[in-house]
Amino acid sequence: MKQPLKSLETKLIHAGEPEPRILGAVAMPIFQSAMFQYQGETSYHDLKYIRLNNTPNHLALHRKLAALENAEAALVTGSGMAAISTSLLTVLKSGDHLLIQNSLYGGTHDFVTHDFAAFGLSYDFIEAERPETWQALLKPNTKAIYVEAMTNPLLQVADLEAVVKFARAHGLVSLIDSTFASPVNFRPLEWGFDLSLHSGTKYLNGHSDIVCGVVMGAAAWVEKITHRLNHLGGTLDPHAAYLLHRGLKTLALRVRYQNESALAIARFLARHPVVAQVNYAGLESHPGHQRARRLFSGFGGVLSFEPRGGVEAADVFLQSVRLPLIAISLGGVDTLATRPAITTHAGLSAEDRRRAGIADGLIRLSIGIEATDDLIEDFDQALNESTARGR
Ligand code: PLP
Repeated sequence: MKQPLKSLETKLIHAGEPEPRILGAVAMPIFQSAMFQYQGETSYHDLKYIRLNNTPNHLALHRKLAALENAEAALVTGSGMAAISTSLLTVLKSGDHLLIQNSLYGGTHDFVTHDFAAFGLSYDFIEAERPETWQALLKPNTKAIYVEAMTNPLLQVADLEAVVKFARAHGLVSLIDSTFASPVNFRPLEWGFDLSLHSGTKYLNGHSDIVCGVVMGAAAWVEKITHRLNHLGGTLDPHAAYLLHRGLKTLALRVRYQNESALAIARFLARHPVVAQVNYAGLESHPGHQRARRLFSGFGGVLSFEPRGGVEAADVFLQSVRLPLIAISLGGVDTLATRPAITTHAGLSAEDRRRAGIADGLIRLSIGIEATDDLIEDFDQALNESTARGR
């Protein structure tokens, strides 16, 4: 490709594609071969083998993904958790300490709280919106700081600029899970983060049919993480790589539509008389709204809300909606709805949930790409049903 690729939309289509195209194939073919003939490679990590993440499917994805966030290098992994755990286990060594946001995706929370000790690692939780409290938790062995672009399910936005500043001032590696934002809405490396991580299962693939992860950052870091992943074995198989590659081509179209649709739905819910609270960073009333406007180019497709009437009203709503599927996860083309207290956050005690601000009647929606008006009409009838039955 002779012409420099400037905009994200063009990169999604053309960046990283083999030149010339393989046998003229417009779509990237699937290289379903575990190993490839020896071609004089001198290092173990360069031998062509699926587990070593270097088949033509992996390499094309690495080039495309790196272009999207203007990273020096990218790596695809077998799941978002493989990207997160392998990155942390590369950046940290036995004896090191991590500062990590207190409101986290459950898998990351459990990895840190259940598994860190076995690797000789320690951590402290930080309140990511209160930078003035971080210094007191810093230790001589603190090596890294970890946050998420937007928290689940309350969509809080941490002080991400302060995280980068703090990391630089104290020589820490800064990592961010940018899954909820996607490269369409936020490119963390441009804001100074060292490593940007994604569950590609969500927006990047976008079709709810594979599990995958991504690590992006400086080439030296990505190489180290790749070598650790090669040993731990969390590779992405070529068929899943093909599906991710295909899904990425429509990322900008999907996410921009989801941004608009979720904002319209958040506004509709905020006006609805039987809704007590709506959490969406695109609403002016959200405490992180100004910060989100500065950092992000859109507020994403996930929002949460509390119907008046608590758990009972929430359950009637979930039984009454016709379009959303009742399922965990997010970022795909189908609208999904879930009640975090019994699914994603069921592992927390009722007291911990209350302290985190997650009401038992809270409903999380991941808005898909259905017509916004159809979703609003459906939500309206389900909310009216929940009031009617509550009487
Ligand atoms: N990070 C976030 C914010 C997530 O929501 C998830 C999954 O729900 C993960 C990471 C883990 O990703 P995966 O399920 O692809 O391992």
